[in-house]
Amino acid sequence: MPSSAEVSRMGCAQHLLVRPRPLPEAVPVSVQPVGSLGVEYADLPDLVPEIEESQTPVREGDGQQFRVGIELQSLTVSAIQSQAFLNACRRGYSADPFFYPVLQHLSQQHPPAHTPDFALRLQGMSLRAGLLYFEGNHLYVFKSQRRTVMAGVHSPLQCHAAHFGTGKTYRKVVSLYYWPKMWRSVASFIRACDRCQRSKGPTAARLGLLQPLLIPSRPWESTCIDRLSDLPPSGDEGFDAILVVLCRLIKAVVLIPTHSTAGAEETARIYRQHVSCKKGFQRHIVCDRDLRFIARFW
Ligand SMILES: [Zn+2]
Repeated sequence: MPSSAEVSRMGCAQHLLVRPRPLPEAVPVSVQPVGSLGVEYADLPDLVPEIEESQTPVREGDGQQFRVGIELQSLTVSAIQSQAFLNACRRGYSADPFFYPVLQHLSQQHPPAHTPDFALRLQGMSLRAGLLYFEGNHLYVFKSQRRTVMAGVHSPLQCHAAHFGTGKTYRKVVSLYYWPKMWRSVASFIRACDRCQRSKGPTAARLGLLQPLLIPSRPWESTCIDRLSDLPPSGDEGFDAILVVLCRLIKAVVLIPTHSTAGAEETARIYRQHVSCKKGFQRHIVCDRDLRFIARFW
């Protein structure tokens, strides 16, 4: 076997002399607690060496690259379930007026629920080792621990460049945890993330230039419509809204009394009755994209 210096002198034609080392097989790594944020989790072990080791081997084949070992994201999601975290959840249940009755109920061999409201609260909940789970393995997270979970998933300490978006963070959180209105919690948490606010630019497509409306060639060829709503009820029918229709060419106005509860069908009906039947049909109707004006009914 030639030395490395000899190999370099031989050039590329002799590359067969250098056999690639066999790659190690993927080894499942036990998930350890990470994602600690506060003093309470200061005892969590440092997993950086384990992560680096597990990410090192890369195998190439069939035009694809396979990263052998664990994925960082799966580690960070389940890793927050440290013993301290679980104990905090247990303490949280007992102090929570909403879930303490559930805890007591489930620990008493499932006696019948007292009220329909309480039965609804029990739906999907189960108790294992003093912890509440929702629909199987989704750990119910007490309110004070939710930020810890979201922070650990959104920006794990071992992956400084992470700071996942709302969708990705939500999918990871919802795969293992549960609490009411999770999407709203995750979205508001990420909106308040200082690093995301400083470093992430807008991802929406740039707005185009303003497009001026064409000048109509005849009166009532094009109209603008909008609604004045939340007015005091008036008349025998209690009208509390006005549909305002404006001709864009001559600025003539038609005011049609209506109700705030009128939907797209009713709005289209009174528009046809008071405008189209009297002024002729319009080529364009300009509106503010109110659901009543853009429904498929039109
Ligand atoms: Zn962030």
